[in-house]
Amino acid sequence: MAVSTLSAAGIRWDLGDLAAGADEARSAWDELLARGRAFAERHRGGVGTHGPEALRELLEELDGILEDGARVHFYALAREHTDAADAETNDLATFARDRAADLESILLFVELEWLALEDAEADALLAAPELERYAHRLRVAREEKPYALAEGEEQALNARRPGISAWESLHGRELATLTIDFDAGEGSEPHTIDRLLSYVHHPERELRRSALEALYGALETVADVQAACYDALVGDRLAVDRLRGIPDPMWPTNQKNELDGEVVEAMMRSIEDHYPLGRRWFVRKAQVLGLDKLELADQYAPVGSDRRVEWPEAVQMVDDSLRDFEPRLADIFRACLDRRHVDAEPRSGKVGGAYCNSLSRHVLPYVLLNFTDQLRDVVTLAHEFGHATHNTLALERQPYRAYHTGLAVAEVPSTFAQLLAVERLIVNEQDPSTRAMLLADRAESAMASIFRQTVMARFEQSAYALRGEGKALARERLSDVWFEENERYYGDALAMPEGYRLGWSYIPHFIHVRFYTYAYSFAHLVAFSLLARYREDPERFVPAYLEFLAAGGSRSPQELLEPTGVDLRDPATWEAAFGELERCIAEAEAGVAAL
Ligand SMILES: [Zn+2]
Repeated sequence: MAVSTLSAAGIRWDLGDLAAGADEARSAWDELLARGRAFAERHRGGVGTHGPEALRELLEELDGILEDGARVHFYALAREHTDAADAETNDLATFARDRAADLESILLFVELEWLALEDAEADALLAAPELERYAHRLRVAREEKPYALAEGEEQALNARRPGISAWESLHGRELATLTIDFDAGEGSEPHTIDRLLSYVHHPERELRRSALEALYGALETVADVQAACYDALVGDRLAVDRLRGIPDPMWPTNQKNELDGEVVEAMMRSIEDHYPLGRRWFVRKAQVLGLDKLELADQYAPVGSDRRVEWPEAVQMVDDSLRDFEPRLADIFRACLDRRHVDAEPRSGKVGGAYCNSLSRHVLPYVLLNFTDQLRDVVTLAHEFGHATHNTLALERQPYRAYHTGLAVAEVPSTFAQLLAVERLIVNEQDPSTRAMLLADRAESAMASIFRQTVMARFEQSAYALRGEGKALARERLSDVWFEENERYYGDALAMPEGYRLGWSYIPHFIHVRFYTYAYSFAHLVAFSLLARYREDPERFVPAYLEFLAAGGSRSPQELLEPTGVDLRDPATWEAAFGELERCIAEAEAGVAAL
């Protein structure tokens, strides 16, 4: 199927709510920098020393600048993500990155002066009612106190930001502009990586295999560059960690997630203990497909029958699912579509995957995805609008700096929205064969988040450890580690082809945010726990859940989840989650048995 025949053709976003064009974006940056400088002139040396009322006003003004900065910065990124080959876009993205780093340097003094306060002074401010809405974020920020450097040093580190971003951009551009000639049965034509990957859901094994082989062949041509990008970024992060005295490469991510390192490790161990559950499914799936043994190309092969879903139907499905749960969420979804804040059409020059970017209480979120007319794309759409609705509600209620949560909690509402959508699809599906497919897909998505992302987090741990020992992260070394970590999960139940050694090379999370990966494992388990609660008592659950959404990042994960009855310290929470996972796998087995 050619790109032009995909049903989301023409569904591209309108960036008019961000900026009218490149020129306006550039002058907006000039204004922002002027505002930032004037702000710094007025407040430098006075953060936290004029009482709680003054600090609140200062933070509100700072929020205003940051909020506008996020808007104009995303304008450049959004263009870069959908038009990587355009010269004006690349110029603007470079300009925006430079200016964003400048602005950050100008404003850095606020965080540093806040950290420099004595504990007693800070505690007095944190206890003041004027700062109640900011208190949690301010308290979390102070955890960085032991690792903060002097302002000049922090600025110098910050000034390197464009150089760091250049590695990230190079990595993304190599993938976004990679077009691979592939014949899916209708003649050879150029494919993006996402489109090639979508064939892993194709019923024909030979096509799945050859699509993956084509992908691996293409990755061969970029793997050295991808390894160099990763090596540069990991090396840089570790060097800065050493300078700050940060002992554990996971610490910065754990701190942002507000999760204790021991909690994360315990979760990952517990997940690894459940790997046999995944392997049980692989063995069953091989039987269903009539194979001796599953190969990587079969991991996501459809069982039962898939069907084509056109974009308007997908929109209706997600609307229904959100509306069923809480109409307010569906209204936000519709508003984003009406304002053309969604880019769903796959095309060359556009980044793969999907994301949601929320910027400001004055601008609705923007969502990017690559819609390929498959049922699972509906799930992706629901996932991204789990983010969009969470952020919109949080931005309504919280000050800008308190609306966003750490990554781990951020993935909870998106995963929950995705689970609701899937559940609805399953319940409404009359055809047992499509039902079997949906049940299998739900189980496999859960395994992809809970198991696969933990595999990836272990890969990252190994990579950081090796780089920390002074070993270069060259392509072969990364490939070895990647294979080893994957083997621990797949064991004898699934065979990996040689080409998959390069599987690490196209994963953007490794590049952008270290250890982002385990956030998906965490979130899927928590979302499972929430779903169990919802099923028990929907009437009580929904208002509590909305409260959780609107609270944004104003409290710790533990406190945020409290109203919903999910207690992160209670082993029963995790048991309930693995119980849901086991239920999904058992239902998937029952689904295929009914065929
Ligand atoms: Zn997400």
